[in-house]
Amino acid sequence: MAELNCFVTQILQVSPIMKIIRIKPDGWELPEYKAGQFVALGLHASASRCADATDEPRKLAPTKLIKRAYSIASSSTQNFVEFYITLVHSGALTPRIFDLKLGDKIWMGKKATGMFTLSEIDDNQNVVLIATGTGVAPYMSMLRSNALQRKGKIMVIHGAANSWDLGYSSELNLLESMAPNFIYHPTITEPDKEPSGWTGDTRFIEAIWKDTVLEDKLGFRPTAEDTHIFLCGNPIMIDGMKEILDTEGFTVHTKRQEGQIHIEEF
Ligand SMILES: Cc1cc2nc3c(=O)[nH]c(=O)nc-3n(C[C@H](O)[C@H](O)[C@H](O)COP(=O)(O)OP(=O)(O)OC[C@H]3O[C@@H](n4cnc5c(N)ncnc54)[C@H](O)[C@@H]3O)c2cc1C
Repeated sequence: MAELNCFVTQILQVSPIMKIIRIKPDGWELPEYKAGQFVALGLHASASRCADATDEPRKLAPTKLIKRAYSIASSSTQNFVEFYITLVHSGALTPRIFDLKLGDKIWMGKKATGMFTLSEIDDNQNVVLIATGTGVAPYMSMLRSNALQRKGKIMVIHGAANSWDLGYSSELNLLESMAPNFIYHPTITEPDKEPSGWTGDTRFIEAIWKDTVLEDKLGFRPTAEDTHIFLCGNPIMIDGMKEILDTEGFTVHTKRQEGQIHIEEF
């Protein structure tokens, strides 16, 4: 059986189906990684599943190491790694992760990968970081590393169903009040469920982009010449935004072709 090589050092229940989890390597050095990259996490199928998990579609051999990719949310300079994870009730790995207690062990792949980083983008360019749900994780890593030292403006647009699903909102609000080049714009799509009201945006991200919010908050309308757009999370939001950005002259960034739209689908 593969050895579980990390300890769980912190668990924060953000909402009934979202947790922020920190892990530390057990006797080995974390690899160098760029903010925005992801690693694999894993647990054996023999690990217990959380109480609100539903039946698994298929039975797995107890010794099987179930592995999935997770974006790192912590700064690349820390000696721990943080993740922001949504529970998929019928899933193979997340119900097992949601049953972990402090001090329990988990496996983490020793190599971080991914091109979803700011490292190739000119410092003077602006960046709009757009996420749904836990898609905000790689942006937290960027902001907690060195993104705020960039010369261009940085905006985070974060969409979720309810205000309590907007993980990291207090940290992002605080950053907005402290960093002159940073703007945070949260939106929720189920305002009727808010117990104490919600005075913020309630539109889908696509509608926000088409509106004048960006001009109002950034002071200019982003174009393909001056701004890179990052899209992370729900594939429906990513497709919708790609379609709109395409009509405005933005192109998708790939290994072969430079572009201004950077995508990470969960
Ligand atoms: C590069 C990359 C980075 C990722 N980073 C994160 C991250 O930071 N946080 C995070 O929570 N997830 C992240 N994911 C998703 C993650 O890898 C798993 O797919 C997810 O946690 C579900 O795993 P599971 O084993 O519990 O479910 P599985 O057994 O793999 O999936 C069960 C079913 O649930 C559906 N499903 C998968 N994900 C979701 C979801 N989020 N919501 C609803 N249904 C879903 C699938 O269609 C599948 O049919 C990332 C994925 C990639 C590719």
